[in-house]
Amino acid sequence: MENADYFVLDDELWEELLALTDGEAAPCFQCGVCTASCPWGLVRGETFSVRKLIRQVQLGTLNEQEDLWLCTTCSQCEPYCPRGVPVVEIIQALRYMMWKRRAILEGLPSLLWSVYWNNNPWFQPPSQRTQWALTLDLPTYDPDHHDILLYIGCTASYDRRAQNLAHSLIQILRAFQIPFGVLGEDEPCCGETILRLGHLPYFKEIAEAGAKIFRDRGVGKLVAISPHCYDVFLNHYPEVNRDFEPLHYTEYLASVIETGGLKFQKTFDRKVTYHDPCYLGRRNQGYEAPRKILESIPGVTLVEMENSGMDALCCGGGGGRMWMETAPGERFSDLRVQEAAATGANVIATACPFCITCLEDGVKSMGIEGLEVLDIVEIAAQVLQK
Ligand code: SF4
Ligand code: SF4
Repeated sequence: MENADYFVLDDELWEELLALTDGEAAPCFQCGVCTASCPWGLVRGETFSVRKLIRQVQLGTLNEQEDLWLCTTCSQCEPYCPRGVPVVEIIQALRYMMWKRRAILEGLPSLLWSVYWNNNPWFQPPSQRTQWALTLDLPTYDPDHHDILLYIGCTASYDRRAQNLAHSLIQILRAFQIPFGVLGEDEPCCGETILRLGHLPYFKEIAEAGAKIFRDRGVGKLVAISPHCYDVFLNHYPEVNRDFEPLHYTEYLASVIETGGLKFQKTFDRKVTYHDPCYLGRRNQGYEAPRKILESIPGVTLVEMENSGMDALCCGGGGGRMWMETAPGERFSDLRVQEAAATGANVIATACPFCITCLEDGVKSMGIEGLEVLDIVEIAAQVLQK
């Protein structure tokens, strides 16, 4: 038959998905609420349909799954699913099924190789991991002398813009004499990108190796700059016997402020709106600590966007999307910065290096004047002393 328009149905696909998700995909009854609540519907005429992806697998086909890579794993849909289906977990499992069939997007295998060879997803040499900190004389973590291990992460180690987040946090810790150490070139990649892209066995390997490094170094409390690292340490490293306590830096600084160990003296006389990063807010209910820090800074007027907290719109950078092209006109961050501008704020504060990149791109592409994107830690470092 020439140009036959047929495909073979695979009876075992659904079983495979159920096995990968411990049966969590089973309750899906095809209502489509997830599709209706997905932000892709706001930027594309055609929505991104999780319902359809699941249905195809139920019917026994993995064809036409290109859309699968669109998911930013923002979890916006999950709280609305009437059956409590963990959509992000399903997406990761479906992506793994595509890896097994070598049907993945171009460029993704080299990303895996970068983590394998370079210990980072940014295609940067491991020898450059601590280049940003050469003049800082950072102490190597020692559990007998340090309260916390400061986990810098790959993005704040290699991305020039994100390095300022690490510099700012170190400035604050030093100003308030909080004993901290780092792992320097021995710091392992947390593996978050690999997990979100669905290479589940490789993520497990990375997590096991990372957990061992932290165990061998006697890490008690680990403070992460990125909510993405924080989330995997908190929610996925227990599967490989995590024995340290992960905290996001906002959580840590808010607790120090509460005990009176951290006070800001200079004022920051700006109208600030806060963008909740998905992996701090929706995924880990980290809504209060960032706002507490901002409210403790003299002069800050905090205003909320139309969608905030649990309903905050994703910046578009999660789920491995930082490494994929998003067509102009389809970027969530363009919508988000317009929401921010509508509040009359002149600063969008956030607490994630991916959000910083996406929101800054959004401000530029929308041509919004007078709206600055800053991480909370950068604002805090600016108001340290009189
Ligand atoms: S909202 Fe839940 S039950 Fe409805 S289609 Fe989506 S995953 Fe399935
Ligand atoms: S996790 Fe976010 S991007 Fe993915 S399907 Fe749900 S709402 Fe859409």
